[in-house]
Amino acid sequence: MCAYRRAGPCGCRHDVHVRFETHRALDAIERRLTADPLAAGAVVDLAEAARSADLDGGRPAALLRLGLFVDGLSRQLGDGGIGLYAVAERGLLSDTDFTSNERMVLRRWSDDGLIEIVPPGSQVMGRVREITGLTGLPAISRTPLPTHPGPVYAASASSGGVALKLSTTGQSSRPHAATGRTWRCPTPGCASFGQPPGPGAGQPPPALLGGVPVCPRHGERLQDQGPRPWTVAMAVRIDGQVCTHFAAPTGRRVMVGRAPDDPTGVTIGSWLDEEGTRRVSRNHVLIEARDGIVLATDVSTNGVIVRGRTSATAQPRRVTLSRDQPYVVGEWDEIELHPEVTIGRTDRPPSGSRGQAVQNSVMADAPTIAMRLPRVD
Ligand SMILES: [Zn+2]
Repeated sequence: MCAYRRAGPCGCRHDVHVRFETHRALDAIERRLTADPLAAGAVVDLAEAARSADLDGGRPAALLRLGLFVDGLSRQLGDGGIGLYAVAERGLLSDTDFTSNERMVLRRWSDDGLIEIVPPGSQVMGRVREITGLTGLPAISRTPLPTHPGPVYAASASSGGVALKLSTTGQSSRPHAATGRTWRCPTPGCASFGQPPGPGAGQPPPALLGGVPVCPRHGERLQDQGPRPWTVAMAVRIDGQVCTHFAAPTGRRVMVGRAPDDPTGVTIGSWLDEEGTRRVSRNHVLIEARDGIVLATDVSTNGVIVRGRTSATAQPRRVTLSRDQPYVVGEWDEIELHPEVTIGRTDRPPSGSRGQAVQNSVMADAPTIAMRLPRVD
């Protein structure tokens, strides 16, 4: 008896249907994969995620499992658009634990630079550690990482998905000099360091070999293309849910408000309810990144409060900003324009993270039984 036919009215052959839905879910996952630290919310070892068979009791390796991690991260960050930075060793592209279709998809993701591929025999978790150390992004891991340099999400099975629990023993350090340059790989068509990043986008952090920046994919020494301003990815949240992202680069102040005079500012008026529209000024707060720190300046009518936290779990301490006085915002801090409207770093969960329902789930269309089914090539 076809389990799918029982569940759906389509009447088609279930393998055809499951294949179609698998493609659709993999497409949704693909849209959320990135090697741009400014678009990502965390870094994961792709093989570890795909091999988490305990999550569903299915095949030893399944690419769809990556979607459970994307959704788990979305739930933490209240962000239906957040990206996942996945790293894999080259051998995974020909691993026969995956179906031929999955291997084809993996190769496409690699060719398009959506996932980072490291040479055969590389320690993937070593590279994850390096990326998180250089960018401040949290790592996601199924096993404890007691000496990790930054925040770590412990990933565990929860009803129908992955629950992420953030531990913040490590603090991210000041930006490394290697992340303040634009790099180019001498290998033609390199998917990681071929094209310089576009406006508002970032580049993967180089691998450091004895302090020398090399391409993590090809191991070749990278060519220095000049300075790149340190940039921090910020998000505006309403009731804990992200409504918009913006990049704050060093050297340019970004105005956030209901309808900023500056056309390059961040306009949030359309997301505000009646109360929010009354409370949030047209020009409300200026955000400025400056080589490793973020400054917020209140320019509003009703004021700005910073909810200061020393870690994700610390109780927030409220500080009222003085008008026109820049204030240094910590990595866990949230800038409150109005009780429901906050600005914070894209990769840091909001305080009192509600573990809210996932918006824009990549697994919405996934065949829930696919992972327990025999291989569908
Ligand atoms: Zn390269």
